[in-house]
Amino acid sequence: MPESPPAPVDVLVVGAGITGIYQLYRAREAGFSVQLLEAGDGAGGTWYWNRYPGARFDSESYTYAYLFSEELFDEWEWHEHFADQPEIERYLNHVVDRFDLRRHIRFGAKVAAAVYDEPSGAWTVTLPDGRELYARYLVAATGVLSVPYFPDVPGRDDFRGESYHTGLWPAAPVDFAGKRVAVIGTGSSGVQVIPASAGDVASLTVYQRTANWCTPLNNAPITPEEQAQLRADFDAMRETLNTSVHGFLHRACDRATFDDTPEERRAYYEKMWNSPGFSKLTSNYTDLLQDPAANEQWCDFIAAKIRGIVHDPQTAEKLIPKGHRFGEHRPPFVAGYFETFNRPNVTLVDLTQTPMVRVTATGIETTAGAHDFDIIVWATGFDFGTGALTRMGICGRGGLALTDHWADGPTTYLGVQTAGFPNFFFPGGPHAAAGNNPRYNGDQVDFVTDLLVYARDHGFDVVEVDPAAEEEWTSMVDRWAVRPPAFGQSSYYFGANIPGKPRRYLLNSAGRPKLFAEIADQVASDYKAFKLSRRA
Ligand SMILES: Cc1cc2nc3c(=O)[nH]c(=O)nc-3n(C[C@H](O)[C@H](O)[C@H](O)COP(=O)(O)OP(=O)(O)OC[C@H]3O[C@@H](n4cnc5c(N)ncnc54)[C@H](O)[C@@H]3O)c2cc1C
Repeated sequence: MPESPPAPVDVLVVGAGITGIYQLYRAREAGFSVQLLEAGDGAGGTWYWNRYPGARFDSESYTYAYLFSEELFDEWEWHEHFADQPEIERYLNHVVDRFDLRRHIRFGAKVAAAVYDEPSGAWTVTLPDGRELYARYLVAATGVLSVPYFPDVPGRDDFRGESYHTGLWPAAPVDFAGKRVAVIGTGSSGVQVIPASAGDVASLTVYQRTANWCTPLNNAPITPEEQAQLRADFDAMRETLNTSVHGFLHRACDRATFDDTPEERRAYYEKMWNSPGFSKLTSNYTDLLQDPAANEQWCDFIAAKIRGIVHDPQTAEKLIPKGHRFGEHRPPFVAGYFETFNRPNVTLVDLTQTPMVRVTATGIETTAGAHDFDIIVWATGFDFGTGALTRMGICGRGGLALTDHWADGPTTYLGVQTAGFPNFFFPGGPHAAAGNNPRYNGDQVDFVTDLLVYARDHGFDVVEVDPAAEEEWTSMVDRWAVRPPAFGQSSYYFGANIPGKPRRYLLNSAGRPKLFAEIADQVASDYKAFKLSRRA
């Protein structure tokens, strides 16, 4: 007997990362029929795919975690202020099981196409094997850092040794012991995997295209006293996190760089250097990202630290970034990274001086010569912001392909919807805010869910953003983008790491305050930016 087509669901979520799991939970709790499709074979999103040695948070564990359930918060004990990948993956699986969400999730189900059907106002979603699913609302929680990028180096497939991308790391541990290892890339993933793998290897050769402004993560175990305090402070912490600009607990500074004397500044920078994670950005002087001269002071401080840590002066100079300021690229946070270059078995290759020519069957060739390796690790990043959405075969009203609609870069309203694609939402996509991801992605999930509940309660089942609202939000994003002459556009925030990608800003530097204000305005105005209708 031929299989009967699956019954349509109200809400079809794509992606089982922290955003999609929350969207599934919220939609189900709101009484919608739900299903979630996930390309991977397990839950966790980023924390399922990025299993490389050294992978860990640089948001504080308890500020990244879900805050919607105090019981969940109380029963989960994070071991470190910045948890490692295995612990995070365990946590997200715990959430899935604790709230009985697994039965709504289909793993190994990569969406190949999603087409809007105007007469029914519903979406037809196709899996690679041709199976189709139907949904009133399609919510892509497909992540901003979920499509690994490999640079177009000739011969990449010729290499006969082992080859891994940090964002596609296998579940079985990779054995580095006694191997000649190359790591390509020194962004946030590269600087984690490099110190974590240097101990065991015969040799580690690091291929650096862009040096980054790395500062210490300053991780530590969470003591029993701190655990107790976190629980006691839950309400206050949730309030702070739900209202903070960047979604962190870090306190903002009240002074600009040159308000302090050089001595005071040095002491403050020292304090920043020893502070946890992102506070170097969020608690630093107020003009850090506005005034190039202020930024230079902080960069000079970091450069001096690098020179103090790295014994070989030539290596130290190569590790000091040139041509971009602190915060212009995503700042990586490190543990023992610069110290790794003092090991006798570690070599740094500066690709700006000796560019990569090709990958060979046995190794890597630069203009300075060839080296043989057993393992090549590609820590070469992601197609940020739009990578997953533009690979999902999405077609909206009148057959409009999302790839055409966004040919010059994404246009969105609140980073959740784009005009011409009714009943399609993408919380956790481009243009939301900037900072601790789950906090503002959670704001978006709440907004989408509340909007769908409103539509249902008022007898509507087609929800489409007004193009004017989208244009206004997108112009706001562009206006607030960190721009020249003070700051360049050389980061993945502008898509600059992907050849041919339009240079459009993919975050929202007006951040959560703007998101909050707009959401409040929408709720108060019965969602005036959206056209709500009944299907024909
Ligand atoms: C190594 C690393 C460390 C990070 N550390 C931090 C941090 O400390 N703090 C922070 O705030 N952010 C961090 N980030 C950013 C991180 O991506 C977000 O914090 C968060 O994981 C985003 O969650 P998400 O659910 O929106 O997306 P993801 O976690 O990326 O999940 C998206 C899921 O969608 C699935 N998917 C995509 N396309 C399809 C498709 N067509 N069909 C089916 N499934 C699909 C993917 O397989 C993936 O599982 C880090 C990112 C990386 C890569």
